[in-house]
Amino acid sequence: MPVREIYSHSRLSSFETCPRKFCYRYVQRIPSDVEGIEGFVGKRVHEVLERLYLFASRHGVPSLRRVVDRFHALWDEHFDAARIRIVRDLPVAHYRSFGAQCLENYYRRHYPFDRDETLGIEQLVTFGLDDSDAYRVRGIIDRVARARDGSIEIHDYKTSRRVPSQDELDRDRQLALYQMGIAERYGADRPVSLVWHYLVRGDRRVSTRTPEQLEALRTETIELIDRIRSERTFEPRPGPLCRWCEYNDRCPASPVRRPDADGDAGAPEAPLAAASGGQLPLL
Ligand code: SF4
Repeated sequence: MPVREIYSHSRLSSFETCPRKFCYRYVQRIPSDVEGIEGFVGKRVHEVLERLYLFASRHGVPSLRRVVDRFHALWDEHFDAARIRIVRDLPVAHYRSFGAQCLENYYRRHYPFDRDETLGIEQLVTFGLDDSDAYRVRGIIDRVARARDGSIEIHDYKTSRRVPSQDELDRDRQLALYQMGIAERYGADRPVSLVWHYLVRGDRRVSTRTPEQLEALRTETIELIDRIRSERTFEPRPGPLCRWCEYNDRCPASPVRRPDADGDAGAPEAPLAAASGGQLPLL
């Protein structure tokens, strides 16, 4: 029996944003050693918040100073100027203080971290969208908590500057998929809230889903996976995000490709495109 590929929210979003980028990353599996500074900052902030909650559960709440020092230590440990790409014309120090500010905002808002009971940190969820096991989805939840009223909360940390509207959050796919993934673990009838923390603004946003909305999302996601599996041309979709694309020196449609860059002359070859049909190894 062939190994079926497993989908994540980011993998689905990659296809929706630009099928060609999806192809480079997930079909041709072209490695890229560059990482955007925004992603780098987000990773370090997530690591520190993970450690904060683990530390608090075992030893008590660490000081803000200790939290921020940990961020800087992780930054120094992982930062590699040759590998990290900065697209905007801003110094590295800007991003460093941005990350520290995100943590400070979160800490000040949530101290002493006793508003809920943490049930899981960086919790992996893997589940099928239907009974056939042909549509597998996975994700990692930043934090799962039990609120004081007994409901379950799925928390997600965001380091992006933009805070989506409530309408956008009410249609967000990522956390709603996670809700499907944890439904059985905590009881299908238990109320669940989806909670986003927009760290740079110190904003906390909440949304909920009805069973009907989750069912509609299940159907839409299956349809999207079917579209991906039947895709053959993976047309590029150039736009402002090309500046951040790790394949922008390879892609023929890239508006920011360097003239001397070696790249593809055209669409990916058919056998590679066809590989999206289900024979790929897991992510
Ligand atoms: S450079 Fe732009 S069009 Fe090309 S793969 Fe990347 S995001 Fe898509």
